[in-house]
Amino acid sequence: MQSFYKEILLDHYQRPRNRGELENADIEEHLNNPLCGDQVTVYANLRNGKIEEVAFTGRGCSISQASASMLTEHLSGKDYEEAEGEIEAFLEMMRTEEKEELGELVALKGIIQTPNRIRCATLAWDAMRRGLEVE
Ligand code: ZN
Repeated sequence: MQSFYKEILLDHYQRPRNRGELENADIEEHLNNPLCGDQVTVYANLRNGKIEEVAFTGRGCSISQASASMLTEHLSGKDYEEAEGEIEAFLEMMRTEEKEELGELVALKGIIQTPNRIRCATLAWDAMRRGLEVE
């Protein structure tokens, strides 16, 4: 199982989805993780109560960047409430136990062996939650 999770993460790390700045985005939130040196900025455009476009930029460890890439795929097209629900479910999973219904996101939970890496995985999600709250 561990190697399957690794493959999912490596795929997102090596071929990040929606990587790049969104100009004049409705949401632009930057967070860093000094424990590991990770930097992530998430961008989103909102239209009719939905997250129309999501993108990210950043650098850092494979977990932080893969997680941001997965976030963009996961939240794109969702309405605010759905997106907030998904973010909460993901953050809760990282604190507690794997949740089957979160699909490939489970790989992030499965791969992290030590608590100090959890912040790597939650960085982009915390940034997006913060961005949505401000809206
Ligand atoms: Zn990291």
